[in-house]
Amino acid sequence: MSEAKETRQFEAEVTQLLKLMIHSMYSNREVFLRELVSNASDAIDKLRFEALSDEDLFEGQTDLRIEIEIDADENALILRDTGIGMSRQEVAENIGTIAKSGTQQFLEKMTGDEKEDARLIGQFGVGFYSAFMVADRVVLKTRRAGADEGVRWESRGDGEYTLSATRREERGTEIKLFLREDAEDYLQASKLEGVIRRYSDHISFPIYLIDPAEEEEQRRKQVNEASALWTRPRAEIDDEEYVNFYKHVARAFDEPLTWIHSKVEGLLKFTLLFYLPTERPLELMGPDQRDVSGVKLYVKRVFILDDAEMFLPRYLRFIRGVVDSDDLSLNVSREILQDNRVVASMRKTATKRVLKMLGGLAEDPEEYRTFWESFGAIFKEGIVEDPGRQQEIAALLRFASTGVEGKGQTVSLDDYKERMKEGQEAIYYITADTFDAAVASPHLEIFEEKGVEVLVLTDTIDEWVVSHLREYEDVPLRSVDRGALELEQLGEEKSEVSESDEDRDQIPEKWKSVVESVKAKLEDSVRDVRLSRRLTESPACLVREEWEMGERMRRLLNQAGEAVPAGKPTLELNPDHQLVMRMQQMEDDEIGEWARLFFDQARLSEGAVLEAPAVFVRRLNKLMGELAQQ
Ligand code: ADP
Repeated sequence: MSEAKETRQFEAEVTQLLKLMIHSMYSNREVFLRELVSNASDAIDKLRFEALSDEDLFEGQTDLRIEIEIDADENALILRDTGIGMSRQEVAENIGTIAKSGTQQFLEKMTGDEKEDARLIGQFGVGFYSAFMVADRVVLKTRRAGADEGVRWESRGDGEYTLSATRREERGTEIKLFLREDAEDYLQASKLEGVIRRYSDHISFPIYLIDPAEEEEQRRKQVNEASALWTRPRAEIDDEEYVNFYKHVARAFDEPLTWIHSKVEGLLKFTLLFYLPTERPLELMGPDQRDVSGVKLYVKRVFILDDAEMFLPRYLRFIRGVVDSDDLSLNVSREILQDNRVVASMRKTATKRVLKMLGGLAEDPEEYRTFWESFGAIFKEGIVEDPGRQQEIAALLRFASTGVEGKGQTVSLDDYKERMKEGQEAIYYITADTFDAAVASPHLEIFEEKGVEVLVLTDTIDEWVVSHLREYEDVPLRSVDRGALELEQLGEEKSEVSESDEDRDQIPEKWKSVVESVKAKLEDSVRDVRLSRRLTESPACLVREEWEMGERMRRLLNQAGEAVPAGKPTLELNPDHQLVMRMQQMEDDEIGEWARLFFDQARLSEGAVLEAPAVFVRRLNKLMGELAQQ
């Protein structure tokens, strides 16, 4: 044998995980069987795939199966598969470390609540280690298809493992679990059969249960259906089977919110089974989100590819499931798939079906809200990414709004349209970092007064969404801080002589010198100064032209390292505000001081960071002091 026995340490994280697993996952431990069977099935899938280009890997043995054998003498359970197996290096990489970026996050998320933590385990893909929930010693022997030598791995789950070479005739992996005393009920065939049926009926390869204690002809029996779930007619599959299959393909522990299973038969023939998860999978969380899709590609029932992102647009990357094509060739590669007419056409159909599924889900607002909270921020990217379906996607968006009571409540654009006031010409929105910051904005004063609803957008992506979504069903979307407002006359008797735009911009005689003076003082910072019609309480606010970038977008771009200079907004002063009225009696210098103060205030309320906050504070205190003396 070429390499001697060696003892290695687990990564610190693995050890920590094992401890947790052993001590806290007691109530749900039967899932170890599902995890190991699931790995075995993946290994056979991989073998079949690799053998497409190298038939020798079968080594003349095309019997693809999983076996579970009871060894009552040793109080052990043996799981065998005729899959791809592992090389020494693969064993060390896959079983001794947790290469997944999620491990640390997983450990941080552990709650101490058994059920919750057991559920998390699945999400974080630590399947193999679940063996230690029932075993105090695990021996794994494996030989990679085509390799001469096998590998033996052994551990007690206590921080170290040994690796050694071993002679092994059979290709694939064998895992022997020496059961803990309190887990010996897994030596009962009936118990095992129940668990396998519950969790693994959908596995496409036969699973045999071997019980040497039985009579000869009963000794080895197949316990699952062994036909790929998606190939079976919908009517014959019950919800539980669908849910269990989801847990297998998605490697998840949550329940799917909903799913679609359809056979497409036309120019192209393919089957898709797509699930919408309830919770955001780990790989789609946090700053180092991996940009993976959760779709597996099969061709004529043979597994071809994980993360087959070409079958759905990016904004649907939360979908988990399977596509099985009859048209593609078995030896397609990822590169070929990227630019392929058949794939493009499948993707179109798949996208349509998913959007339709979401439309259906939206009929149940509670369920839809769950979807929206988990995936809304991803789904919104579709507005930017998929202009051809923009309106369809827009109908599925949900927004916080001043029109609904209670945080967390959302509205659709259709809801909004239904509530629009007579004469209202646009769908109004405000963007801010938080809901509370948004609703306190001076820009909303006129909307509140007129009873006009405003959508409140607080996700980072929203800035991009609204810059691409110009209208919904012919109604323009408009930011509350843009241009002149057409709200004044809403809900009021139209005046006999309606004002022309020019008239509206006319500044009454008594204000002229104040406005001129403010304009001169703030020349470097503002484009224009005018009297406001949108403020009822605040003294001032900033508005921008339709084409101008908003303050929040500017800030986000700056944070992303793209330097965008501050624009020159227009300052609007509220002519009915006490402090603003006082300006009429002020000297030029004093007007300048107040103008600066109003300008800075308006910027602060937009969420901007002042260049010199201390100057602002000093000015504020000085002017308050003067007022106090009057
Ligand atoms: P996951 O299956 O989520 O990747 P596991 O801890 O269950 O995590 O397995 C880690 C890796 O070990 C697998 O991705 C696979 O590469 C390898 N592996 C596990 N079981 C087997 C097996 N029976 N045959 C071949 N490889 C396996």
